[in-house]
Amino acid sequence: MNEPAEAPFKSGFVVLAGRPNVGKSTLLNALLKFKLSIVSPKPQTTRHKILGILGGPRYQICFLDTPGLIAEPRDPLQKVLKRAARTAAHKDADVIVLLVEPQRPGPRELEELSGLGGQTPLILALNKSDLPSSPGAHEEVLRAYSEALKPAAALKISALRGTGVEELLEKLLARLPDCPPYYDQDGQLSDRPERFFAAEMIREQVFALYRQEIPHATAVVVEEFLEKKGTRDWISAVLYVEKDGQKAILLGKGGQALRDLSEKSRRALSEFLGRPVDLQLWVKVRRDWRRDPRSLREFGYLA
Ligand code: GDP
Ligand code: MG
Repeated sequence: MNEPAEAPFKSGFVVLAGRPNVGKSTLLNALLKFKLSIVSPKPQTTRHKILGILGGPRYQICFLDTPGLIAEPRDPLQKVLKRAARTAAHKDADVIVLLVEPQRPGPRELEELSGLGGQTPLILALNKSDLPSSPGAHEEVLRAYSEALKPAAALKISALRGTGVEELLEKLLARLPDCPPYYDQDGQLSDRPERFFAAEMIREQVFALYRQEIPHATAVVVEEFLEKKGTRDWISAVLYVEKDGQKAILLGKGGQALRDLSEKSRRALSEFLGRPVDLQLWVKVRRDWRRDPRSLREFGYLA
């Protein structure tokens, strides 16, 4: 008797695209059921492309969390981010998931999104569908986007509540190519080194604790990450800001603000890594680093 042929293995890259703050990182976390990408209520927290890997019995999906397709780049950093997002969306993806807010798109937005992905299949997901709306309003928004973008599939989701996420996953799998896995199926969640996540988690705390321009003017570089057998890991990181005044704000009166930041970051890192760590933070001024290609490269924002 013939055995039924096993379903082919599916594997590929999925780009999560959409404006800053639309919920890309939240969706990635919901998909991976693990806090991987940093989430913040302020736009543009995610500067890097983050690769999260979801492994199932017969599939492996590699997610790219882009920094968002920003409308008007205001400085060289934003230009780099926008280019990175577009490139990721076009080159690396087998499927693109475009997240949109539950608001009718304006002509400029549709114009900006037109041609997104080229030949790559596009799945349109209206996120934040848990927010209250008048009857039929969400369907109306989906229709407006669908008419302009002609996606392969469209649906409503709430990344925050987890509704529609399973259905989105099914639609994704249906469009992934038959392909062996790109990475070991050993449950690893990312190919990014822990050093990178450590820097992102410290940056997340900067967003939580400081106001206005400070988080956007701060780059975090992890200089030392030592795993020590039998005792705590040791992490040393530098916070680069653009001006002396920003350094003074980061430090706070008598260094108290930096001590708070350090303690909160240390706790978040210990939880993330599942083992206790010691953390030392330094603050340095690198004038106008956001406009300086050399600094952007050194801080990992430019290849
Ligand atoms: P990103 O910039 O696209 O990565 O957006 P984030 O994932 O950082 O989310 C931005 C904000 O939107 C955060 O405050 C999230 O809690 C919120 N958010 C994300 N998804 C949802 C959702 O489905 N419903 C609601 N109500 N809020 C959401
Ligand atoms: Mg994000």
